[in-house]
Amino acid sequence: MKVLFLHGWHSVVGGVKPSYLIQAGCEVINPPLDDDDFGAAVRTAQAAYDQHQPQVIVGSSRGGAVALNIDSGDTPLVLLCPAWRNWGTVTTIKSNCLILHSRADDVIPFEDSETLLFNSGLSSEMLLEVGADHRLADPESLAVLLWACGVLAAGETLPVIAEESAAAANIDGSQAGSQAEGSYLCDACSEEIVVPLDLTAGPRQTYVEDCPVCCRANTIHVQIDDDGQVSIWAEPEQDYD
Ligand SMILES: [Zn+2]
Repeated sequence: MKVLFLHGWHSVVGGVKPSYLIQAGCEVINPPLDDDDFGAAVRTAQAAYDQHQPQVIVGSSRGGAVALNIDSGDTPLVLLCPAWRNWGTVTTIKSNCLILHSRADDVIPFEDSETLLFNSGLSSEMLLEVGADHRLADPESLAVLLWACGVLAAGETLPVIAEESAAAANIDGSQAGSQAEGSYLCDACSEEIVVPLDLTAGPRQTYVEDCPVCCRANTIHVQIDDDGQVSIWAEPEQDYD
């Protein structure tokens, strides 16, 4: 998954959030944005978007305002406590977006994100309440960020939590050159976890990974049948002697 990450005011390139996405296997374009000149920041972000054609744009705080003020076509947005009231002229958001915000944010009020969705006629379900501060750098917020990117890159417009424990196949093969992805429901906490798929690794794959939300180990089974249908499911990793 190719992500354009637009950092916040006086944030460093290569901070916790883009680093987390890189560790999770994303290709992250993380251009340095001018802290003083908002117009220059928007032009830099627009040039990076035009050059790299990302599948998802993530904008953090002031970077969220930058994301709203570039021409990004149908590319989905994940905004982290976006500072749209403070910078730029755009006061609405497109429908394929998710916003992450903490009610305890003392820099950008949670209500600003509610207002942004209200302005746009969009459902409050697109606003996910996570974290305990403005930074959203805690493990839960990072996991939700990754999940939100995966959901939107797969072309879904609203978060859908599957009921059953074996998640249905959810594979993104729609964009040429994009990395295939699937998702499974963690056996322990039932969160939907998006994982990259290596379709060249054979029709039956099994590996162990720790759930990024609850940290418990799952044994992941991937099964690809002849017509390309992918099934992924998780079992607890444990030994019964
Ligand atoms: Zn879990």
